[in-house]
Amino acid sequence: MEKEQRDYKAHCLVFPYPSQGHINPLLQFSKLLAHKGVKVTLVTTRFIYNTMYKGSCCTALETISLEAISDGFDEGWKTQGVSIQAYLESLWKVGSQNLAELIEKLSGSGCPVDCLVYDAFMPWPLDIAKKFGIVGAVFFTQSCAVDNIYNHVNKGVLKLPLTDSEISLPGMPPLEPLDLPSFLSHFGSYPAFFEVVIGQFCNVDKADWVLCNTFYDLEEQVVDWLAKFWPVRTIGPTIPSNYLDNRLKDDKGYGVDLFKSSNDACMKWLNKHPKNSVAYISFGSAAQLGLEQMEELAWGLKRSKSKFLWVVRESEAAKVPEGFIEETAEKGLVVSWCSQLEVLAHEAVGCFITHCGWNSTLESLSLGVPLVAMPQWTDQSTNAKYIKDVWEIGVKAQPDEKGIVRREEVEHCINEIMERDKGKEIQKNAMKWKDLARKAVVDGGSSNRNIDEFIETLVKH
Ligand code: UDP
Repeated sequence: MEKEQRDYKAHCLVFPYPSQGHINPLLQFSKLLAHKGVKVTLVTTRFIYNTMYKGSCCTALETISLEAISDGFDEGWKTQGVSIQAYLESLWKVGSQNLAELIEKLSGSGCPVDCLVYDAFMPWPLDIAKKFGIVGAVFFTQSCAVDNIYNHVNKGVLKLPLTDSEISLPGMPPLEPLDLPSFLSHFGSYPAFFEVVIGQFCNVDKADWVLCNTFYDLEEQVVDWLAKFWPVRTIGPTIPSNYLDNRLKDDKGYGVDLFKSSNDACMKWLNKHPKNSVAYISFGSAAQLGLEQMEELAWGLKRSKSKFLWVVRESEAAKVPEGFIEETAEKGLVVSWCSQLEVLAHEAVGCFITHCGWNSTLESLSLGVPLVAMPQWTDQSTNAKYIKDVWEIGVKAQPDEKGIVRREEVEHCINEIMERDKGKEIQKNAMKWKDLARKAVVDGGSSNRNIDEFIETLVKH
C-alpha cells in the first residue's frame, strides 16, 4: 500500500524483552502510539504468547496487533534446565531470524514496517532495522541514572571491580559502591546479566532514537548529560492512562499478566479498610528472597501496627513461615499476584514496601504512594538511593551485617511512613512527584511532546 493511502501515520513493530517488567512499559508505550494514529504490532515470544493472561482492563489493548515469534524455546526455557546464557544466545540467533522473517511477511501483506522499537536488553534488532532500511529506536526500560552508570562501565571509564568509596559521575549525586547496581557492586555475581546490561550500549550510538521510560523533571541533569551523545527522548512514565491523564478509555491495567491474578479478592479486602491503613508489599516478578529474609519480613509485618497486603509469587510461597497466614488472618492478606496499579491507587494503601524495580518505582511515584525501599539486586539499589535521597519519597530499610533486613527494621520503616506526623515530609514529596509525573504526560508535557516528535519523524521517513 502506498504511504499516502494508509489510514495510519506509520507502522511500528515493538519488541520487548520477554519478562513482565519489560513487556509492561513497551506495551503501554504501544497503546499510546496507537492512540496517536500509529499502527503497532507488538512482538513477543511464542512461549509468552501462549502462557500470558490477557486482561480485560483496557480497551486500548485491542488497538494493537500481537505477533509471536520463536526464540527456540516455545515450551519455555526455565523448566528445561537451560542456562540463561544458552537462552539469551538462542533468543538472539533464532529470534533475529524470525523477527526478520516477520518484517518481510508484513511487507508482503501490504503493511510494511517503518520503525522497529526494540528493548535495550536486546541490542541486535538494530542490525535488522538497518538491513531493512527502517527506523531503529532503542527503548531503555531502566532509569537514565542506571543507564548512565552502565554506559560509564561500557566505555571503560568506571573500572571494575570498584575500588573507590565514593563514585562521582556526571549528572548524578555522589554514590557509594552499594548504591550502584548489584552487577557492579557485587562484580561477578551474575555474569550473563552483566553482559546484558552492559551490552545495551554496544551499538546505541547507531540508533536513530533513544527512548527512555522516565520523565524529564525526574532525571533532568542525567538526561541532559546523555542527550549530549544520543538522540535521547524521555517518554515516561508509561503508566496506564486512568492513573495519569485519562486519555485512553478504560485503561486501568497494562493488559498482559504472566501470573494469575487474585485482584478481585484484593479489592474486596482493601475496600474494608480505612484510608492509609494498609502497607502493600511486593518484590515484582523476578526477585527471590532468601528464606531468612522472608521470615524476618513476615514477622516484621506481623509486628507493625498497619494491616498488610503481601504479594508472594507461587514460586516463593514455600518460604512463608508455617502458620503465618493463619496467625495473621485478621491483619493481612497474602496473594500470589494482583493488579499492582489498582492496589496502589486504592485509598486504603498508605505505603509500598518494594524491591524498587523501575516500573514499581515509577508506578508508586506516579500515584503518590510513599515507599519503603528494600532493594534486592540489579538496578534496584540505585533506584532506592534516588527514592530516599534525591526524590525523598521514601525510606530505605537498612540490612544488618549479614545483609538481612530484620523484623524490627521492617516494623520501624512502616511506622516511619504510616504515622502521619513522622511521614509528613515524605508524603508531601510524594504528592509533588505525582503531580509532576502527570504534567509530563498531559498535552504540552515533556514526554507527550517527545512522543509526538518521534511520530512526526516516522511520518517523514
Ligand atoms: N506487578 C503486578 N502485580 C503484582 C506485582 C507486580 O502487576 O502482584 C507488576 C508491576 O505493576 C510492575 C511489574 O509487575 O509493572 C514489575 O516490574 P518491576 O520493574 O517493578 O520489577 P521486575 O518484575 O522487573 O523485577
